[in-house]
Amino acid sequence: MPWDIFAHEWAARLLQQHIAGGEARHAYLFTGPPGVGRRSLALRFAQALNCLQPPAPGEPCGHCRACDLIARQQHPDLSILQVEEDARQIKVEQVRTLQRALSLSPYEARYRVALLLDFQRATPSTQNAMLKTLEEAPEKVVLLLTAGSAEDLLPTITSRCEVLRLRPAPLQSLEEALTARWGVPPDEARLLAHISGGRPGYALRLRDNPALLEQRQTWLLELGELLGMPLRERLAWSKQNLRKPDRDELRERLQTWLTFWRDLLLVASGAGAPLTNIDFSADLRRLGGQISMAEARDRAADLEKALVRLDANLNARLVVENLLLAWPRVSQPSELFLE
Ligand SMILES: [Zn+2]
Repeated sequence: MPWDIFAHEWAARLLQQHIAGGEARHAYLFTGPPGVGRRSLALRFAQALNCLQPPAPGEPCGHCRACDLIARQQHPDLSILQVEEDARQIKVEQVRTLQRALSLSPYEARYRVALLLDFQRATPSTQNAMLKTLEEAPEKVVLLLTAGSAEDLLPTITSRCEVLRLRPAPLQSLEEALTARWGVPPDEARLLAHISGGRPGYALRLRDNPALLEQRQTWLLELGELLGMPLRERLAWSKQNLRKPDRDELRERLQTWLTFWRDLLLVASGAGAPLTNIDFSADLRRLGGQISMAEARDRAADLEKALVRLDANLNARLVVENLLLAWPRVSQPSELFLE
């Protein structure tokens, strides 16, 4: 397998050919959902560009000094631009700092590589500040951007990048890979493959952080409780739990709830598509009998809108209360979510 990359072999092959043919471009954009493997592929590409002992043209050895430092994201010629902790957006000063670094020749590597992670988190004016570098990238500089989708960035940015669209792996193949490559026990591998929706990076993050799995389960149980409550109690719940919400955590909570409503939509519609929350499949089936397809679709759509509103900085508690008021009340909540 070229580059030892799971699920995106086609992309690895293409990038390898670019290097081997001396045709590496100045800018690439890796798109796909978080955890699909955009950064891993970009780092592997940076290794392939700078490997000191490539076993074949365009192939990284994986263990020379350059490969090692790049894998640890500590190579002096690797710059990483991403939203700072506790910040909401990439700042224009970060772009300026990066541009100064890129104007110097590489310290020791063949190429200076800049990784611009989740660049959709830069405002249009910050993206514009980067445009000049994209248009006239200095020699020996390769820019690697990641984003959810090409449409998340300004068209002027996207058009100057070679776009590689990474997609989640089929669940079955991720499940097998988790066991064969990463030693995850089969039962856990199946669950992680489903919850991650075929995104290997996300599946491994869950494996390495059992607290994330527990958190998810708590949020789903909470959703079950809320469905059993009358409106008055839901509002009381919101008042108690969302007084000063951590927006990032709330976003994850809503995303988890969204997976549940999408699962309910699948169950209600009788579609055979695989569920995300297979560990709750008995509950989903039971609820699917009480909730119509239209209801499930509307509630999933509400959640998508709520996530957009949250990103637009609207009052988080009001956003959630609007959701909860529209949820149906489901009878027999005590029988739900008992597994
Ligand atoms: Zn190497």
